[in-house]
Amino acid sequence: MTRIVLLPGDGIGPEVTEQARLCLAYLSERRELNLSFETHDFGGAAIDRHGEPLPEATLAACRAADGILLGAVGGPDWDDAPARPEAGLLGLRAALGLFANLRPARVIAGLEHLSPIRGDLVRGADILIVRELTGGAYFGTKTIDAERASDEFAYTREEIERVAHVAFAAARRRANRLTLVDKANVLATSRLWRQVVGEIALGYPEVAVEYVYVDAAAMALITNPRRFDVILTENMFGDILSDELAVIPGSIGLLASASTGTERAALFEPIHGSAPEIAGMDVANPAGAIASAAMLLDHVGQSEMAFLLRGALDDVLSSGTLTADLGGGASCSEFGEAVRTRIDARL
Ligand code: ATP
Ligand code: MG
Repeated sequence: MTRIVLLPGDGIGPEVTEQARLCLAYLSERRELNLSFETHDFGGAAIDRHGEPLPEATLAACRAADGILLGAVGGPDWDDAPARPEAGLLGLRAALGLFANLRPARVIAGLEHLSPIRGDLVRGADILIVRELTGGAYFGTKTIDAERASDEFAYTREEIERVAHVAFAAARRRANRLTLVDKANVLATSRLWRQVVGEIALGYPEVAVEYVYVDAAAMALITNPRRFDVILTENMFGDILSDELAVIPGSIGLLASASTGTERAALFEPIHGSAPEIAGMDVANPAGAIASAAMLLDHVGQSEMAFLLRGALDDVLSSGTLTADLGGGASCSEFGEAVRTRIDARL
């Protein structure tokens, strides 16, 4: 039995998560995957019902899960609430020790025109950024007075090793190419990253490794996105580059993410927010949530099913069944149904 915990959350979270759940349940039934689902309160919805964004029962269920599928949290309804919905996410990240953030972005055949980048440059682009999530400048000691401020920017060998293994393992499932993005010409931390990544690379001889400075990488993401497969980078560079990457496919509604950590359970969520202005209208794009469910399948050892689900999703998008954010007329539930029809065709 594979335990999946659903945290629908707020705004469009519940409707997109439901379409992803229906896809997983459909696969599970047809292929006897033995997936079990339980739904728990999280974020603003949990504040309304329990007074806190991450209730004890939700946390316990997440700790016992194999994978967690999250919708979105937050929105103006909780501006004056006793707690912040987003605090639930921070609590969950800490509890599960989530140190690696994975953000894939692909340009789907037939949808090149949605990208702000010229079609001939982005056709076939398929990139995964693996961002270290718990170290570096965001977490170092901070000092500030009227004349001087500082942010300690530090990494340990162990912090680099564990996220590097995540990135190399991902590269092995993809095109066997890994780019370490750093600033080794000026940063001591980057020199340690190069050292450690070079050592770990010996254990993954099939993966070709290259090293690129972050300024050059930022430019190449736009001018030559196809040159990248897996990008591994530290926290702050990853923060910036993953937002840059997110604009390439042309809609935030398409993109998925995963966060993996020290526990068995990993967290999967679309990168978009709760979009409260369209919540409950059945118009949100569930593609990001469904793509997140595919990443969850990879995590629980069902890579064949993950491949199938991604393929079905691509089929639907390429065939022009699109939600309103992509200029189409399909509803959230119609889009999900279309994906399940394509699953059927591919099974
Ligand atoms: P956050 O504060 O977490 O960023 P948000 O509500 O601002 O949440 P974003 O993800 O930043 O949401 O999205 C900005 C806008 O993009 C939304 O207000 C919505 O109009 C649109 N959008 C985002 N996700 C989707 C989606 N899945 N389907 C359709 N439109 C979306
Ligand atoms: Mg926003």
